[in-house]
Amino acid sequence: MTAVAFLRPEFIESFPPEMMRGVLYVSIPYATCGHLCACGCGQEIVTPLSPAQWALTYDGQNASLRPSIGNWGLPCRSHYWIKEGVVRWSRRYTADEIADNRTRDRRDLQEHLGKNNPGPIAKLIRRFRP
Ligand SMILES: [Zn+2]
Repeated sequence: MTAVAFLRPEFIESFPPEMMRGVLYVSIPYATCGHLCACGCGQEIVTPLSPAQWALTYDGQNASLRPSIGNWGLPCRSHYWIKEGVVRWSRRYTADEIADNRTRDRRDLQEHLGKNNPGPIAKLIRRFRP
């Protein structure tokens, strides 16, 4: 497993059958980004874009995602930021912090989906988080 230091944005409509290392796939129609976990474990990480989830910044060359990518559910438990394409590693959270984050994420998402028509975002979430 080799960690990825940089993610290049690629604007697509829907994700390819197999994602490539080092690419941050950005689908504006589905308001979702995807990439292979930067630790090199090969897991596909899907980050829906919404006010309650992730925000994408694109400066014409490189992309940033906010907040950090916390892969609590994966064996690697990797945690990193993507800032202007550069992968910045963050410390691993404790089990308590992970539980807190999960609760907060679920509440934020439910509040957000309650206010808005979920549309394609919810469909994608269902697809990727069965
Ligand atoms: Zn990983």
